Amino acid sequence: MADGTESDSRRLLRRLRDSLAEPGKGQERLDRITHLIADSMRCEVCSIYLFRDDDTLELCATEGLKAESVHQTRLRMGEGLVGRVAKSGQPVNTGNAPAERGFRYMPETGEEIYSAFLGVPIQRLGEKLGVMVVQSKTARQYSEDEVYALEVVAMVVAEMTELGAFIGEGEALSALHTHPVMFRGATGQEGAAEGRVWLHEPRVVVTNPVADDPQAECIRLRAALDELRLSVDTLLTETDPGDGEQQQVLEAYRMFANSRGWLKRMEEDIHRGLSAEAAVEKEQSATRARLDQVPDPYMRERLHDLDDLANRLLRILTGQGYETGAAMPENPVLLARNIGPGELLEYGRKLKGVVLEEGSVGSHAAVVARALAIPLVIHAERITTEALNGDHILVDGDQGIVHLRPDENVAAAFRDKIAMQAKAMERYAGLRLLPALTLCGTTVGLHMNAGLMADLPSLEGSGAEGVGLFRTELQFLIRNQVPKRGELAALYSRVLDAARGRRVAFRTLDIGSDKVLPYMKPQDEPNPAMGWRAIRVGLEKPGVLRMQLQALLRAAKGRPLTVMFPFVAQFEEFLEARDHLLHEIDREGALGRTLPEKIEIGAMLETPSLAFAPKAFFELTDFISIGGNDLKQFFFAADRENERVRRRYDTLNVSFLTFIAQIVGRCEESGTSLSFCGEDAGRPVEALCLAAMGLRNLSMRPASIGPVKALLRRVDLREARAVIDAAAASGAHSVRPAIMEWLSRHAEVV
Ligand code: PEP
Ligand code: MG
Repeated sequence: MADGTESDSRRLLRRLRDSLAEPGKGQERLDRITHLIADSMRCEVCSIYLFRDDDTLELCATEGLKAESVHQTRLRMGEGLVGRVAKSGQPVNTGNAPAERGFRYMPETGEEIYSAFLGVPIQRLGEKLGVMVVQSKTARQYSEDEVYALEVVAMVVAEMTELGAFIGEGEALSALHTHPVMFRGATGQEGAAEGRVWLHEPRVVVTNPVADDPQAECIRLRAALDELRLSVDTLLTETDPGDGEQQQVLEAYRMFANSRGWLKRMEEDIHRGLSAEAAVEKEQSATRARLDQVPDPYMRERLHDLDDLANRLLRILTGQGYETGAAMPENPVLLARNIGPGELLEYGRKLKGVVLEEGSVGSHAAVVARALAIPLVIHAERITTEALNGDHILVDGDQGIVHLRPDENVAAAFRDKIAMQAKAMERYAGLRLLPALTLCGTTVGLHMNAGLMADLPSLEGSGAEGVGLFRTELQFLIRNQVPKRGELAALYSRVLDAARGRRVAFRTLDIGSDKVLPYMKPQDEPNPAMGWRAIRVGLEKPGVLRMQLQALLRAAKGRPLTVMFPFVAQFEEFLEARDHLLHEIDREGALGRTLPEKIEIGAMLETPSLAFAPKAFFELTDFISIGGNDLKQFFFAADRENERVRRRYDTLNVSFLTFIAQIVGRCEESGTSLSFCGEDAGRPVEALCLAAMGLRNLSMRPASIGPVKALLRRVDLREARAVIDAAAASGAHSVRPAIMEWLSRHAEVV
């Protein structure tokens, strides 16, 4: 690059900064910029197009084109050369614009006399804001340095747009971060919420994109990089050498942090007039643009690492941490790329909703959101880039849809929906003290699932008879080390206190599969859901299991205790686990401790194999609880976390219901109490069918108890069973259509 050009681009940036510093309305500023660029780059035309909505670009300012076309000329994404730049995110540089593929003639602009065309995207961190164009009469190709200069200017304009420099006049000028956007994600937890955006990691704002003293900026950049390297090295020494994945990520971080190419490119940008922060951000934008185009998952991971590293560097340079000092708005809805269960728990119930760009239904965050009964939408791509703190937001957890900055019609319809749900809740509250007594005189026991101390107050409110499933792994997931026996005993004891004599079925630790403890060596298993998990871990490495059993025995303080073992696949596993418990009971007794007045020992039936266990198993176990989530995934061989297949098979599939009836039959034979505690128990129609197949105890999220009870109280289970049997005999693969049709005639609900 020639020195002359170098100072040209710096001079241009300085002029730009000075111009932006002058007071003025949005339009005046844009006009000044186009004038200044056309003048500095010695082009006849400079124009700025900004997005009006996701798909429409509007000419917002021009030097050289006809003034009357401003705010009139519009293009769709991909339309004409300007639209092509916007769509591809890449510059278009041509000496003969009319001959170019996709050229679109716009007579109102008077641009037909200009041959040379250079358009660059105005984008910030992968977010498309508009297009900047220069045009000349002479048929010439713009030089590499000119392209570079315009890109840098576009970046500064993007930065200023982000800061709201052009807001204030004309609709298009206020388009950024102000227009309504709808995100279609997936359901993580049902429910609806209205509130204000609270970003878990607020974005870094660069307020000084242009700098005068390149030397000083390079020194700042290098110092920040040193700090970054040091922090990565510290992280590396702190990670467990056995933790291969974490090590690999950090090694990649270190490699990037030491990359000469990365530093060189940023220093070049600084010499061309950018501040250190802006240079980092420019690299980051390039990374994000590549991210959009790379299909290879490994490469994408590495680009994500680089993006993350750039964020850290920006935070060091700007001094902006996660704590911005901003106050959390009322009715906060948390937005994050992803979040850990511990962090989510810290926010607790004050959140109205949670929206994640990543996540999965079975992720720990989803488990916590479910426990806290907060609506959660996952896979809302790019929402953290689009949203600003304080934005109005509607979260529809039922549909997996999010409305950001909704218009009034959408908001009004949404409020109606919330009001209807509130009304229904009121109706359910009226049933709280009534049993789930069906028209045929059968009472179905409704219990709730829990996993946190915070869940227990729902026992009163929901009218649950007890806790049918207490998932103990959350206490392990949210800590950085194995919890101590004393801590666990105290917690379990408080759970029993809060239950006030109601039965609580404590399930021993179900880790492995998706639930990996932060302090546990990750097992590199090809198929973790069918791998070393739950009771398999407990039996092979019984230390933690025993400690947990001791904690439970002590927590009971003489009260009745119910323990169940997860994921038992064969009788022997149950025998072995039970022996551990019996051994601990003996030990506690020998130590002179008070033992529970009664102990029930049960097994979760989550693999089809257990349904075919010997009769002795059914006779020995005090109760069986069907873990429908796992049982269904193994019955249909359909991963419960895989969005592509998890909804493919209906719980009301005849094969599955027949299988449930077989389990009911085996339990009846041996007089073993049976319950069902998967998510399906909380869906009214599914719950009805399970009851019709003979289940007399269901355990579900507290919020589901009302709707399930309301339906059960309106139906005759014998009739429902007849409908199911008839549908099965007719060869239907699912009984759902028949049941829905019957319900529409008989239950006046659903
Ligand atoms: C189940 O599998 O249905 C169950 C209740 O256990 P979890 O969802 O915790 O695996
Ligand atoms: Mg399970």
